Amino acid sequence: MSCEPLPYVAALHPYMPGKSEDELKRELGLSQVIKLASNESPLAPRPRILSAIWEAANTLHRYPDGSSHKLTAMLAERSNVQPGQITIGNGSNDVLDMIARAYLGPGRNAVFAEHAFAVYPLSTQMVGAEAKVVPAINYGHDLDGMLAAIDENTKVVFVANPNNPVGDYIPSDTLLSFLQKVPSNVVVVVDQAYFELIGEEDYPDATQWLGQFDNLVVTRTFSKAYGIPGTRVGYGVSSEEVAQMLNRVRHPFNVNSLAQAAAIAALELDHQLQLMIANNVAGLEQLHAGLKAQGLTALPSCGNFITFDLGREGMPVFEGLLRKGVIVRPVANYGLPNALRVSVGLPDENAAFLEALKEVLGE
Ligand SMILES: *Cc1c(COP(=O)(O)O)cnc(C)c1O
Repeated sequence: MSCEPLPYVAALHPYMPGKSEDELKRELGLSQVIKLASNESPLAPRPRILSAIWEAANTLHRYPDGSSHKLTAMLAERSNVQPGQITIGNGSNDVLDMIARAYLGPGRNAVFAEHAFAVYPLSTQMVGAEAKVVPAINYGHDLDGMLAAIDENTKVVFVANPNNPVGDYIPSDTLLSFLQKVPSNVVVVVDQAYFELIGEEDYPDATQWLGQFDNLVVTRTFSKAYGIPGTRVGYGVSSEEVAQMLNRVRHPFNVNSLAQAAAIAALELDHQLQLMIANNVAGLEQLHAGLKAQGLTALPSCGNFITFDLGREGMPVFEGLLRKGVIVRPVANYGLPNALRVSVGLPDENAAFLEALKEVLGE
């Protein structure tokens, strides 16, 4: 007799990470590969982060601080909230999962937008809840449509601001009026994974509204602007009431001691953030200009990536780029079969990508 997994677990499609550099080198026998596939930082971690990890390694014979006390205190101070309002996760994906475990399940549903971040459907389906996917308008969130989709079984709404793989963002006044209209018994997750990278004046810091909405959870991460996705640290900021629920379903010791030390060091290194922002602004410009010169349309983008429309199937172009040692990200699984997503790299990496793309499109 075979085992009997839950039907909704058996029906899941596992998350597909971007292809790794080592994988491609092995497959094609290449010695040099450029990876612009996973919205990672092109800048290597600062020595201070490495020394913090090294120092923390002295305590590896002990369990980590299960409450991430120091990191929590620093984040609370920066967000102007109480430590009891912070939930630290093994990446912000872990926080999204905790939200699903605490508030979703069979008979309940979550509302989110078409083309939205891949983890929302995964977290929702993993706990047997229904995903109500609201068709996008012009690739972006249809917030009125999302409000209309909320029913008595809706317990969570996910809003990616900005979204990924389409990098559009919802301006401050629009998002606030949305929050005012969502019933107060529905958890609203505002995913701000790219928050620190975004300079637009009407882009909101959603934590400013925590005093008004006990059902709001703002998620942030060390994976993007802080440039240490390898450590897996993210966090949620919410009311204490919601944080206490998330804490009930949080795995004990979910963030290891090396990761906690790295995140603390990253917070202390604000100049690293400035370097990252400067590289990103210049890189977005370089990529936008280069794509435009090739007659390609970039979708709105204010993260550290650009999704662009090829006007034809993306997969063969993705494969052509691979053969030239450049890894980008196909986004057909997001309902965008004619597009590819490229992450901002260093200037010469961006240039090499644009050159390889030109060659592939001319083949
Ligand atoms: C990258 C990304 C995250 C971050 O995930 P981590 O688990 O923190 O690495 C979350 N949401 C969106 C929309 C993202 O693009």
